Amino acid sequence: MTNDLLENTRHQISSIIIDRNRPLIISDADEVLVVFMARFELFLNEQNYFFDWSSFRLTGNIRRKSDNYTFSQNEVLSLLDTFFAKETQSLDAVPGAIEALNLLSLRAQIVILSNVPFTYHAERERCLVEHGMNYPLIINNGLKGPAVRALAGPARAPVFFIDDSPSHIESVATQADHVRRIHFVHDTRLAELVGPAPESHHRIDSWPEARTTIEKELSAAGF
Ligand SMILES: [Mg+2]
Repeated sequence: MTNDLLENTRHQISSIIIDRNRPLIISDADEVLVVFMARFELFLNEQNYFFDWSSFRLTGNIRRKSDNYTFSQNEVLSLLDTFFAKETQSLDAVPGAIEALNLLSLRAQIVILSNVPFTYHAERERCLVEHGMNYPLIINNGLKGPAVRALAGPARAPVFFIDDSPSHIESVATQADHVRRIHFVHDTRLAELVGPAPESHHRIDSWPEARTTIEKELSAAGF
């Protein structure tokens, strides 16, 4: 995967105003702010497919009930696209996320950085706004390090990044090491399949705890 910032993502980032003197919290959406896995599992079950919960990845774990066939990478991407087309707009909020962001927004800017396909930008935005998570939304593709580096810039205040994927956490460590990294996995079954991302500063799977941790770090840094 590339370390370059995609033109589309760069353009979105340049359209939002970031105050470098204010703390910034960059949060993923799926499995952090909105419930992805439980709804995706329902979607698979409706088609007589299932997720076999054997590892922290989609490809290799999505199977057909009738013959246990394992879907290929391309088939998984196609299933995901159908899922996002059908469900992006109506995903549930992760418990505690709305309230935590609401409180954190008093002390920090919030930006949501999501890898939902570009086509579903409007649906994702509508879903988040309907939940009261009306913060700038940036849609990215591929590893998130370059987008986080561009968002964080030459920060004069703490920057936090929250994501369920160890690859994105690692990418941010490589591209913007000054960013504080929280590894957050909402689904408890998924959470059991993945240890703390090696490049994370914290592994936290609940919003009240994530909020307290960020607030403590902000206070310690004088913000
Ligand atoms: Mg995610």
